[in-house]
Amino acid sequence: MQQSNGKLALVTGASRGIGKAIALALGEQGFAVAGTATSKAGAEGIATKLAERGISGAGFCLDVGSDESVAALMQELQAGLGAPAVLVNNAGITRDNLLLRMKEHEWNEVINVNLNSMFRLSRACLKAMIRARWGRIINISSVVGSSGNPGQSNYCAAKAGVEGFTRSLAREVGARGITVNAVAPGFIETDMTRDLPEKQVHDMLEQIPLRRLGQAEEVAAVARFLASAGGAYITGETVHVNGGMYLG
Ligand code: NAP
Repeated sequence: MQQSNGKLALVTGASRGIGKAIALALGEQGFAVAGTATSKAGAEGIATKLAERGISGAGFCLDVGSDESVAALMQELQAGLGAPAVLVNNAGITRDNLLLRMKEHEWNEVINVNLNSMFRLSRACLKAMIRARWGRIINISSVVGSSGNPGQSNYCAAKAGVEGFTRSLAREVGARGITVNAVAPGFIETDMTRDLPEKQVHDMLEQIPLRRLGQAEEVAAVARFLASAGGAYITGETVHVNGGMYLG
């Protein structure tokens, strides 16, 4: 069993990839973890993974694109594990297309799941953080929010929005002992990048000084630091984890 620090971390999209790695890293740091997936099977998988590592917490179903789903999760948490002291807004999707071919629903889904979710979940968690005079909000952005990427105008707009949101909220709630930061991964080996054509992967690796894809655990290590005592004086920042792919 992990030594508990008495605080709960809510990690959205914890069933796979970066979110899963963050959930486990925070759990190993002593947080109880509420990890979310979009399906019941995914939520059960999270619960199993947490239990295997001796981390207290549970898996929950959540659609970050829905007000009702967020409200239902908050009620469930209130009735059980309590209010999150750490919120990791990680869940994200891509619907890539060149702008001229992009359907309105592809634009709207990406903005809703990747950006509007930040508004929904941060607002839902803030009151309790303010009351506790302690909180950590960690928003997962992307390198392309800074660099841009053809075929991803919806995703890049959402991620650039995430970073502006992060800076603004950091200014709003800093005096209450709450830090708000973004982590911007580069090209990380997860389901989101697994199916890219070999040529595209090869070309991308040419642009990365470290000449390899990143691992989810390398992103999780930064989120873990931002939630730790060591990260307490960092707020409003976007920390890039991209092997040098983008040097702004
Ligand atoms: P992934 O492997 O595709 O996993 C996505 C996660 O988000 C899953 O847990 C999924 O749940 C959940 N999710 C999807 N739609 C959701 C919704 N509407 N409501 C709630 N949860 C939802 O993704 P990843 O690569 O780990 O990416 C995680 C974050 O990092 C995203 O914000 C992404 O934009 C960002 N990022 C990734 C990369 C990369 O190279 N991989 C680079 C930069 C930024 P289910 O399992 O139930 O579907």
